Amino acid sequence: MENFVSNSYVDDHYNNNMGLRQQYQIITNFSNQLNVLYMRSIIVSLLLLSCLIASAQEQSLKVFPVLYQQTAAEYRALCYQAFNMATLRLDEIPKKKFRKQKLAIITDLDETVLDNSYVEAQLIKDGKEFSGATWNNWVSKSSATAVPGAVEFFKAAKRRGATIFYISNRDSSALQTTLANLVKLGLPDADLAHIMLQGKSTASKEARRQAVEAQYKVIMLLGDNLIDFMNVFERGSVDERFAQTDQRKEEWGKKFIVLPNSIYGEWENALYNYERGKLTEAQRDAMRKALLKGY
Ligand SMILES: [Mg+2]
Repeated sequence: MENFVSNSYVDDHYNNNMGLRQQYQIITNFSNQLNVLYMRSIIVSLLLLSCLIASAQEQSLKVFPVLYQQTAAEYRALCYQAFNMATLRLDEIPKKKFRKQKLAIITDLDETVLDNSYVEAQLIKDGKEFSGATWNNWVSKSSATAVPGAVEFFKAAKRRGATIFYISNRDSSALQTTLANLVKLGLPDADLAHIMLQGKSTASKEARRQAVEAQYKVIMLLGDNLIDFMNVFERGSVDERFAQTDQRKEEWGKKFIVLPNSIYGEWENALYNYERGKLTEAQRDAMRKALLKGY
């Protein structure tokens, strides 16, 4: 007790006799520490907020393309137009050719056969950014609907004698759920022998196309993305993609049937020179605006 009184006294004494400068210093240091913590929390909050705003800006850019795919009758008409054109080309091939040769049609899946606009729509509604996890969750549901006209066309092609190959850059881990989706929609040749997804190797579809061409005569290719047709379109700049497209303008609507997709694709990656992930939203915004052609 004595010690306590004594010590307590010493403490009180010390405090009572502490210089004003020291007291000021302690208060200042404490205040500075609080300020640093406060500033750090503000900076972290601002960074998080800016990320959320950037994410929201990116997603808001998708509103009109998603609405176009989901609500514009013009989108449906374009799809029917593409498949009607494909049917016309099919009708031009003599029936005996189907009997004599192994003829095949190669088609992409996403936004060519399968409508996945629901993923982007849900992300916009939830205010979230696209991620691999979101995509995998969607694919696991096997719930994509058919692009207008797709099922009818592929059934007709199968009846005529063509073999259908589905070449997609979905990850090979999605093979069973993708197959289930195609079976659900009643698509022909929906089996493991005719679905070729992206393996560990490359995103290029060239090797898979060549594997089909080694056994079949490919009469037609369908896709929403120019890399679905030829490897000359891979990683091309906007100008290079234009030049390659112009060089083979006779093929569009003949051997190559293109479906509309304004939501995503290589056309979008080309805007950012295929370095989207390395850029801030502000940089991406500047690059988009630099490509706009006014008058
Ligand atoms: Mg596609």
